[in-house]
Amino acid sequence: MPQPVPRYAVFGHPVAHSWSPRLHALFASQTGIALDYQAIDAAPDEFAAAVRAFFAAGGRGANVTLPHKGAAFALADVCTGIARRLGVANLLSVLPGGRIEAQSNDGAGMLADLQNRVGADPAGCDVLLLGAGGAARAAAFALQDAGARSLVIANRTFERAQDLADALSGRRWASVCRWDELGSRGGFDLIINATSTGMRHATLSLPSSLVDTRTVVYDLGYGTAARPFTDWAVQAGCAKAVDGLGMLIETAAASFERWHGVRPDTGAALEALRTPPP
Ligand code: NAP
Repeated sequence: MPQPVPRYAVFGHPVAHSWSPRLHALFASQTGIALDYQAIDAAPDEFAAAVRAFFAAGGRGANVTLPHKGAAFALADVCTGIARRLGVANLLSVLPGGRIEAQSNDGAGMLADLQNRVGADPAGCDVLLLGAGGAARAAAFALQDAGARSLVIANRTFERAQDLADALSGRRWASVCRWDELGSRGGFDLIINATSTGMRHATLSLPSSLVDTRTVVYDLGYGTAARPFTDWAVQAGCAKAVDGLGMLIETAAASFERWHGVRPDTGAALEALRTPPP
């Protein structure tokens, strides 16, 4: 009897925007591994039950996107070190015996993309982080581990920025700034947009004084969702403005490797996704 094709999924709400199914299909064809990878839209009050039902029905692994990363961490039976530190998870895998393991590789994916492809190593940089949700949290800890010189966090809900700064090791390295005071902060080496405004068709109101000719701007969103922010940065005179597609690919590749034991070719995947269909 032929073996059933192993099932994987990305859970989110909304989730239709996610490129993860395309990416895992691309990796599957690169490596010759048969798999079925679907996007599953689950509202917050249905998320835990939907994940449990997916694994009970034979699902082998799942990625988790907004707004479920905290809930993914909470439902897992086992959490690895970095997920434990962050309190959020974007990768769930079934362990022998059916227990669910949670991991977080968003921060590592962002760093790999920044350092290896964008050519913007955060080490020694003064960084502005916009947002204080799950992805911002992963980004902030990764920036600290990578040796950024300082971090300023600004978020629409100021208290969440404060909570994130408190969770990092001390206010001396990480500080907070109210949105309407960003105009007095001068320019940064690196600005990371970790808000979900692009995919929510909202725009950020930001002073151009944050940007100068050395500034690299990185939007965790990708495709059209990143355009308003990267366009703003280019107009403001930044050195480079990049979207988060490379991060998504690095993060997806790490999930793929966790599940299948094979590292896919991320450079080829980036080229394939950037090339418009004929
Ligand atoms: P989240 O936990 O829901 O956080 C959303 C953040 O956006 C919060 O800081 C929120 O501020 C802010 N925000 C939402 N609407 C806003 C508005 N109208 N004006 C100003 N701020 C607003 O989401 P997340 O999981 O952190 O994801 C954030 C973004 O990162 C998404 O676009 C997601 O697609 C992207 N992402 C990309 C990758 C990748 O691999 N490239 C990986 C992870 C995430 P409040 O605290 O005030 O609500």
